[in-house]
Amino acid sequence: MEQLPLFLTDKPESKEAYRRIIAETADAVAASFEDSTAYSGPTPQELKELIKVKDILPESGLGWQAVLERLKKQILPNFLRTPSTDYMAHLHSPATIESIASELVLSTFNQSMDSWDQSPVATEIEVEVIKMLCSLYGFKPENGADGVFTSGGSQSNQTAIILARDWFCNTKLNYDVKKHGLPENFRKLRMYTSEISHFSMEKSAHILGLGYESVVKVPVDKQKRMDTAALAALIEEDVKNGNIPFLVVATIGTTDFGSIDQVSEIAPLCSKYGMWLHADAAYGSGVILSQKYKQRIADLELCDSITVDFHKMFLLPISSSAVLVKDGKTFDALTIHADYLNRTEDEEDGYTNLVDKSLQTTRRFDALKVWVAFQTRGKDGWSEIISTSMENAAYLYEKLLNDGDFTVVTKPEISSVVFRLKGGDEINKKVRRKLIHGHGVVIGQTVSDGFVCLKFTLLNPLITHDKLDSLVELIRKLGKTDV
Ligand SMILES: *Cc1c(COP(=O)(O)O)cnc(C)c1O
Repeated sequence: MEQLPLFLTDKPESKEAYRRIIAETADAVAASFEDSTAYSGPTPQELKELIKVKDILPESGLGWQAVLERLKKQILPNFLRTPSTDYMAHLHSPATIESIASELVLSTFNQSMDSWDQSPVATEIEVEVIKMLCSLYGFKPENGADGVFTSGGSQSNQTAIILARDWFCNTKLNYDVKKHGLPENFRKLRMYTSEISHFSMEKSAHILGLGYESVVKVPVDKQKRMDTAALAALIEEDVKNGNIPFLVVATIGTTDFGSIDQVSEIAPLCSKYGMWLHADAAYGSGVILSQKYKQRIADLELCDSITVDFHKMFLLPISSSAVLVKDGKTFDALTIHADYLNRTEDEEDGYTNLVDKSLQTTRRFDALKVWVAFQTRGKDGWSEIISTSMENAAYLYEKLLNDGDFTVVTKPEISSVVFRLKGGDEINKKVRRKLIHGHGVVIGQTVSDGFVCLKFTLLNPLITHDKLDSLVELIRKLGKTDV
């Protein structure tokens, strides 16, 4: 059995092994795309039978070639193929080819973003990428706007909620949460978000010691946007009852419907009551790159912080997300010095230690993927990608609206279409299962107004109108055949 070098070094034999193993892997991966479907169909039971716990840690190593063979047999054919135009289940995107190459670079060098001496050029790149992003969404780096890459939208939201809580307690209650923990009257703190916002709000509220009861769920209107009049009434009532509103989270692209809360109406309420306004744009952040539709999210600059997810509309590999903040000084909530890592004198000497802004310590250089992807395709390329997905959603909506076999829930503002086959919940559930296991097609399922619905999440710009037409016909047919 071949002795594999441990690392890529300056030695010719190590470079040769690196190139060969990467090339063999790339060949195996490419070969596994045997047809255009999204899934080869195995059930959970069939997959469990394939993978044996006892094989995972053998007494002696099998060597790379043997493991590559197992990878080819057991795993690669059974992967969900996210680039397939038959995949549209979730806000879960295929990854562009150049961004996959960036993953190779960032894993090879394995920089860690916590301190400058672990990631010299990577730190400087992340700082510049963050400045560019702040400007893109209307925050001004020259006025102190800042941000940091995170593991995903959930962590970006959590970071923003921590900053909002600490800022509010510091400036409005004259109370230092970082030092003393939650204030005495913490049970009165309230944050507001729509009833269909992402569950990371409640999860964060729990982790922050505020509990689910601190999260006030605001009803949505017919277009699934936060009802701003209802929000105003709820805040008013809370103030009357002695509760303490500190934060509103507007969703810019709800996970199911892609509906966009109206920031220009919400922002004045936040100013009036001295609250922080966070935009959860994990989904909708990509709209900014569409020349045609970017106006739909133009008012994000009114917010205090924004969650941007690059592993959704921006088609980058997981994970890649950022939280942007209008006043970068609020990151002080997350700064804590360690003698071995982020000495105070570093900062004075121009060494940036990004751990000062992050919930994570060791952290990936995900900013590289944005740097590569934005430059590779440019404004034109990205505008085309994002607009195509949004136009596909508009096309599908019109089509279903005029089709007697279907009910469509709401007019899409981004790229998701939620609808149901007439005939009841069971038919819709059955159709989705049949699509996965019998046709290699993976679509979404959710509930709206108490009815089970199907969902197309159209992130992939390679999806054509013909493709949508034929999937609609397939769904109609499967709904009629009784299985
Ligand atoms: C996807 C999503 C999140 C969570 O983001 P992750 O990257 O999956 O952690 C948060 N909010 C909204 C609106 C989302 O769609």
